[in-house]
Amino acid sequence: MSVSETIQNEFKSKIQGEVLFQESMARHSTIQVGGPVDIWIEPKDENDCKVAQELAQLHDLSFMTVGRGSNLVVRDGGIRGVVVHVGDAFQTVTIHEQKNDTYIIDVGAGMMMKQLLSWTADQALTGIEGLEGVPGTVGGAVAMNAGTPHGAIGDAVVSVTWLEKAKLVTRQAEKLEFAYRKAKIPRAATVLSVRIKLEKSDGAAVLGKLQELRRYRQSKQPLQQPSMGSVFKNPDKTNTAGKLIEEAGLKGVRVGKAQISPQHANWIVNLGGATANDVEVLIRLAKDTVKEKTGYILEPEVKIIGEHS
Ligand SMILES: Cc1cc2nc3c(=O)[nH]c(=O)nc-3n(C[C@H](O)[C@H](O)[C@H](O)COP(=O)(O)OP(=O)(O)OC[C@H]3O[C@@H](n4cnc5c(N)ncnc54)[C@H](O)[C@@H]3O)c2cc1C
Repeated sequence: MSVSETIQNEFKSKIQGEVLFQESMARHSTIQVGGPVDIWIEPKDENDCKVAQELAQLHDLSFMTVGRGSNLVVRDGGIRGVVVHVGDAFQTVTIHEQKNDTYIIDVGAGMMMKQLLSWTADQALTGIEGLEGVPGTVGGAVAMNAGTPHGAIGDAVVSVTWLEKAKLVTRQAEKLEFAYRKAKIPRAATVLSVRIKLEKSDGAAVLGKLQELRRYRQSKQPLQQPSMGSVFKNPDKTNTAGKLIEEAGLKGVRVGKAQISPQHANWIVNLGGATANDVEVLIRLAKDTVKEKTGYILEPEVKIIGEHS
């Protein structure tokens, strides 16, 4: 146990939301692997996030924020320090401004992307349908600049508000340097809300587009098994990571209970009981084999964090 009981008690007494110690990260990642985090916090409101950052700073503890854990591999030794989960308490969406057909909306960072898309379909608003099928929170999507060939969240973002060193910061999209699966948001920031620009459309058309993209994903991706979606970024449009890994002969290869999906070679699935080490060994195998056979250096899209056991 690397955090003293005195410090644990201080977190417990000063934070209104839930505070758990030695909480398994496998419970909070979609691929269901990972060791325990010292302090896991479910903030009840913005003030809880602020207090969590202040206490982490005061006691010199490492600090990070997560959403649904759909892009994370947490190593089996877990995480030393504090993890704040921006979830249920931050699931809000309001129309900030409307001018003619343009709508500016404010979305809480804990809103699930799926919930937001269904809200946009109800409101007949278009602009982010390309995100259909991306699991996770809006905060996570912005931190990752999540997207598909049909568009990335950064294309529609107006500004992002986060807490950094317990201070509120709002940055306009131009300053966030959105690029392929990245955005300029400080590592220790807790994104609280995102302002997004959408256009009025036809509700049935928005819903139709979402359904079409959902059907496409269901036919191509191993959605029934625990995973983190694509593991590597695509080097380019023709030589996708999936194609390179498949051509390297790795489709279906297993390490322990983790497998390179026989359906989509850029996905690693948990067959039940995989460890983070199984997943990480497969990631390394794919990277090394593709480099050796093609010269391409694959860069992980997923975030690999925490300590080896
Ligand atoms: C089945 C499946 C399909 C997927 N398909 C796609 C896809 O098509 N396109 C795509 O881009 N991704 C895809 N992903 C990956 C993943 O869903 C996205 O990256 C998603 O946006 C991550 O959101 P999250 O809330 O789960 O973030 P997490 O995985 O919890 O975190 C990801 C990163 O964001 C940071 N972060 C999360 N929330 C916050 C916050 N509130 N404040 C500050 N930092 C934060 C974390 O520190 C971490 O660095 C897929 C994953 C799965 C499991």
